[in-house]
Amino acid sequence: MSLIIIAIVTLTRSCNVGACPQKRLCNKLFPKVAQPLLYSSRNNKNNKIGRSPMSIAIETPVQTPTTQLAAWVESLGERLAQRDLDGTLNLFSEECYWRDLLLFSWNLVTLEGKPAIRDMLEKRLDMTQPEQWKLEGEATLNDGLLEGWISVQTKTARGKGYVRLKDGLCWTLLTTMRELKGHEEPTCRRRPLGASHGHGHDDKRNWLERRRDEDASFGITTQPYCLIVGGGQGGLGLAARLKRMGVPTLIVDKAERPGDQWRGRYKSLCLHDPVWYDHMPYLPFPDHWPVFTPKDQIGDWLEMYTKVMELNYWPRTECVSASFDEQTGTWTVEVQRDGERLTLNPTQLILATGMSGVPNVPAYLGAEVFKGQQHHSSRHPGGDAWSGKRAVVIGANNSAHDICADLVENGAEVTMVQRSSTHIVRSDSLMDLVFGGLYSEDAVESGLTTDKADMLFASIPYKVMPGFHRPVFEAIKERDKDFYDGLSKAGFMLDFGDDDSGLFMKYVRRGSGYYIDVGASELIANGTIKLKSAPGLGVERIEADAVVLSDGSRLPADLIVYATGYGSMNGWAAKLISQYVADKVGRCWGLGSGTTNDPGPYEGELRNMWKPTQQDNLWFHGGNLHQSRHYSLYLALQLKARFEGLDTSVYGRAESHHIR
Ligand SMILES: Cc1cc2nc3c(=O)[nH]c(=O)nc-3n(C[C@H](O)[C@H](O)[C@H](O)COP(=O)(O)OP(=O)(O)OC[C@H]3O[C@@H](n4cnc5c(N)ncnc54)[C@H](O)[C@@H]3O)c2cc1C
Repeated sequence: MSLIIIAIVTLTRSCNVGACPQKRLCNKLFPKVAQPLLYSSRNNKNNKIGRSPMSIAIETPVQTPTTQLAAWVESLGERLAQRDLDGTLNLFSEECYWRDLLLFSWNLVTLEGKPAIRDMLEKRLDMTQPEQWKLEGEATLNDGLLEGWISVQTKTARGKGYVRLKDGLCWTLLTTMRELKGHEEPTCRRRPLGASHGHGHDDKRNWLERRRDEDASFGITTQPYCLIVGGGQGGLGLAARLKRMGVPTLIVDKAERPGDQWRGRYKSLCLHDPVWYDHMPYLPFPDHWPVFTPKDQIGDWLEMYTKVMELNYWPRTECVSASFDEQTGTWTVEVQRDGERLTLNPTQLILATGMSGVPNVPAYLGAEVFKGQQHHSSRHPGGDAWSGKRAVVIGANNSAHDICADLVENGAEVTMVQRSSTHIVRSDSLMDLVFGGLYSEDAVESGLTTDKADMLFASIPYKVMPGFHRPVFEAIKERDKDFYDGLSKAGFMLDFGDDDSGLFMKYVRRGSGYYIDVGASELIANGTIKLKSAPGLGVERIEADAVVLSDGSRLPADLIVYATGYGSMNGWAAKLISQYVADKVGRCWGLGSGTTNDPGPYEGELRNMWKPTQQDNLWFHGGNLHQSRHYSLYLALQLKARFEGLDTSVYGRAESHHIR
């Protein structure tokens, strides 16, 4: 499902801070970057940098947050340059996190604690050779957290990051690769001329003719380096980045037209996430664009995007199988294009087939005798045809709610079947308390770009997120008490996650178990959508005209919708490549948090997403619009580096612990 969200983090800007009980917390995580505070004498007293035995280099008088943080950054650079690991680690607090997106690791990793940081530095410093560490812009100090943007270069790349100090020592550090040296994207002063001025050029084709020739030959007489299976928002954004980086890339999608993933959904659907969160790479929505984009409008935007970003996109092309030749390092991929069987030989295969994986369709006793229609939620076309009919929707998460509301809207009589609790959060509350700080008009007006918002979001290690989210969702519980009471009275089972950390943590841990309320909850509370709910309530059997539940109740039905979720994305690998490769790669998504549906061991990053997997040259891409936008940069850089033959040996490639 979609989802969203921004950490608590974001509250800073959206809270009515005077009144908000989370003010201190929010400020800790996401201070007003543009408003540096003067450094107080109280903070000077507590400044541990000055007392650290290893901090001689930064014992100069410190007057402002900016000079203090700049000194810390400079000191980090010096100690790393001297390969002084003890000295480097003395700049970190006992509880510390270093999240590295490619720059040091050619991987997406979060190093938790000093031993983990030491290990990475021991293994990667010589290869990386970081230099020119600098504080960029002003630092800020709020509630004891000193923080700011940094830049750094390595032998092969330019990077950016964000650092937070507590009592003068590093608590969180983010380092990210932004571009490869010598392979900068052709933007601004590097943009192409476009026209061929003068006469007598060998190639007399204009832009259109060149595009047509490329379309006719690409994938036929010349092979793509990257093949992206799936041209939804994920595949398109990644392809746009690769195009700008000069990596020959082909997208195949079985859909008739780009954007059909959205057009095909039920009539009333709009994006659940607000516009500021949803921009595609390079091409933001114009500033009159609606906050919640209607489904056909996002479909058209994606189609336009495919065209103007000059992507090589084959519609009506289904990938049917793929196998990797370890000897040649290339894939053999069979596709069915407009009914014709073709073989492609890319070097890299990217599955952007939808984060949700293959639909879970339960096999209920008697399903074959049902006389009405039954289908998985992913195949539900909308409620138009069901006026006056009886529908049973099995499941109580996002899709179930949306489908129930749409069926009711179309005059059907609907019963939802809930067997375990669901986290519900009202869209308004999300906008006010969760999104606002990073992705809102306020954020835009305060000068926060989408890229900066994405980086700030990325700078919070997953491990510390629950602690920051809990109080926000406590505040939401209070704010929406009547709403939650109404649902409970109707018998709806609610939760806020295993550790009360709310929506975003549920999303990254298990990708399910929630609903962003855009209206269906009221219909449940007032009984318009009927509810059968009990822990473990299941389907006993299907009869010709009814669903019989495990509590003995019989629900007459003309339509049954199985809103029963999806398997992990490695199910796509099983379907298209082999069960062996799917098992080797293991489950995708989830952090290994040990909470419901996210079994350990703890990994601290999303499994297999946007990073090297246990299968060489196989990648998984997806997520919501925000994730696809931000993480496609890192995936594209990994692919570009391999295309250019750079040394991309991976630090900390995650093992696979779960096959499904
Ligand atoms: C009701 C609802 C509301 C949502 N709201 C939001 C929201 O507000 N924001 C948000 O970010 N997300 C939202 N989502 C989730 C959204 O669907 C996903 O975030 C998004 O579609 C993921 O994009 P993707 O490109 O990874 O996958 P998809 O959009 O699912 O695209 C995958 C593509 O792969 C193609 N494909 C699959 N198998 C093959 C094959 N073998 N050969 C060729 N092509 C293949 C499919 O045709 C499809 O076009 C919502 C979902 C629902 C159901």
